[in-house]
Order: sequence, then C-alpha cells, then structure tokens
Amino acid sequence: MKDLGEREFRAGQLSTHYFGRLVRDPAEMTDLPAASRERIAGALLPSLLTPVRELACDGGATRKNLWRLHDGALVESVLMGYPDRVTVCISSQAGCGMACPFCATGQAGLTRNLSTAEIVDQVVWFAGETARGALPGCPDRLSRVVFMGMGEPLANYNRVIAAIRRLTDPAPDGLGLSQRHITVSTVGLVPAMRKLADEDLSVTLALSLHAPDDELRDELVPVNQRWKVAEVLDAADEYARRTGRRVSIEYAMIRDVNDHPWRADLLGRLLSGRLAHVNLIPLNPTPGSRWDASPKDVEREFARRLRAAGVATTVRDTRGREIDGACGQLAAAEEMS
Ligand code: SAH
Repeated sequence: MKDLGEREFRAGQLSTHYFGRLVRDPAEMTDLPAASRERIAGALLPSLLTPVRELACDGGATRKNLWRLHDGALVESVLMGYPDRVTVCISSQAGCGMACPFCATGQAGLTRNLSTAEIVDQVVWFAGETARGALPGCPDRLSRVVFMGMGEPLANYNRVIAAIRRLTDPAPDGLGLSQRHITVSTVGLVPAMRKLADEDLSVTLALSLHAPDDELRDELVPVNQRWKVAEVLDAADEYARRTGRRVSIEYAMIRDVNDHPWRADLLGRLLSGRLAHVNLIPLNPTPGSRWDASPKDVEREFARRLRAAGVATTVRDTRGREIDGACGQLAAAEEMS
C-alpha cells in the first residue's frame, strides 16, 4: 500500500474484502477511495485463475473448474456440496511428478509448483461462489479443503504450508477454516511427512497407499521404490501419535490388480492397532488406461475383511464422473483438444 502511495491501514481493508467478505470486485470496496479502488485491487489482487471451463453435475451439487494460470499452465478444482458441508478439492501443482500409472495427472508429468496465492485463490473463489448460493440445498459456507486435486502437495512443501496458514488464520489474515477440516493427501514422501508432524498443525493426513505389498506398490505408486510400505506406515503412525489425528489410508480399488481378498487380509494385518482408517476409492478409469474399477461385490468383500480385522473402513462417495471428475482428466482433455 505504501508503494502505491496509500495509507497502510488500507491493507487490512483490502484483506478483509478478499478473505472476510470474499469480494474481489473493486466496485464493491466502497470503504476504499473511489479514485484508487481499481488501481489498488489491480495491483494487489491480480487475477490469478482464469476459468477455461466450468462444469456442473449431480444436480448442481458438484462443480468442476479448469483454470488457466498466467503462464498458460492448466489446473483443476472441484467443489462438492452435501447437506451438512461443502468441500473443495484443490490442486497444489500444475501436473505432477509422481507418475502413478492409474492417475491422469501422473501421465503428463510436472509443469510447475503453484504459488501460495494460486493455491489459496482456488479456495477463496469457491468460498465466494458458495456464499453466493451456488450450491442449492447445501450450507452457504465452504468448510473443508482437500489437497486431492492435481499435484503432490508435499513436493511443494513450503507453499502448501503457507497456504494452509492463510486458509486457517482468522480474517483479515486468512479464511478462518478449521485446521482439522483440511486434508493433505500424499503419495508418501517420508521426510516431508515427518516434517509435517513437526509443524504443530492439526490438519488431517491422507496417505495414498493403494497396495499393502512392496511388489505391487512399486508399480502403482512409483515413489514406493524409494520409501517402502513399512517406512511410509511408520511415518503415518508418527503423524498420528504427534497430532492425535487418525490418518486416512487411501486405497483405489482396481479390478484384478489390487482388490484380492489376500491383499485385504494383509492390509488388515498391517493396519490393525494403528490410529488409521481406510477409505476405499472406486477407481475412476482414465481414458486410454487398461485399468477399471473393481466390481461392487469385490469391493464389499474387501471392506468386510478389513472390518473383520478391526480396521475402520469407508467407501468413497463418487462425484463428478460425467465431468471428468478424477484428478487431471479435464486438463488432459483440454491439452488434447
Ligand atoms: N498426490 C497426492 C494428492 C493428489 S491425488 C496423492 O497422491 O495422494 C488424490 C487421490 O486421488 C490419491 O489418493 C490418488 O491416488 C487418487 N487418484 C488419482 N487418480 C485416480 C483415479 N483415476 N481413480 C481413483 N483415484 C485416483
């Protein structure tokens, strides 16, 4: 503000518009001098995300945006409304370097890290839409954020942590969301998981396990070649111990690949007694992939065996299939066209 020749307290006013009122249109910032509103907002709230496509399904309760960033990079975010909560799934990188073969984003490789502002702005954008009643029959306050869009959040560590602080600090410094309602999902970068446990944050950690044995996980989550199942589960355990927060073990059910009864039993043995629960994700098949979702009866049997081993298990609600809801599908389709 000083560089713009404005009084310092204007910074708090602008920040209150952005984080507190979810307003970014200078015309609505009537407490700023009329003559300099445009200039202030233009300089300090540049538009970071340009919508390329905006899609809706599930009767308007699921909305997916494909954004173009200032340098042409593409990222996606998905808004999901439920009767009791509104969740946004955001991207932390354009593309991803982790190369998981069942994931559309993994196929194209990493373009670049997102900045803290580019991460935060996805949430602020959808929080504004939600407050303006975009999701019929849902609360008008966005309450949850999951880092399950494009990218590996722990590979963009400092910017993701800074974004979490902006999302959780109270206005005017941030959006004032609860740390417990923020989920960071990782392929299992062990040193970064241990660092996260040191941050004194109470965010939820989700670990994309997808296989209980190293032989298969080496293929499905290639970073397993560096940090094995046992090491990654130890790091998850440490996170749970340090934060008291149950870790969510993500397991995409892929037909005839990782859905065998013996793998359910092995996973049950690995997890029983740990502060963890399993979230089974029906695979969202990506175009051109040889893999498909497990049949429902196989999925039920897999969940039954985990529960029999004493492991809390849920099956992920699938949203947005007809709008290429799975990670990276929309961006891949846009690059193609
Ligand atoms: N890189 C992080 C976060 C982004 S992916 C991670 O891997 O955890 C979010 C989740 O979606 C991960 O569990 C990932 O394995 C899963 N996923 C990716 N593609 C999928 C697909 N086609 N079907 C089902 N789940 C998928």
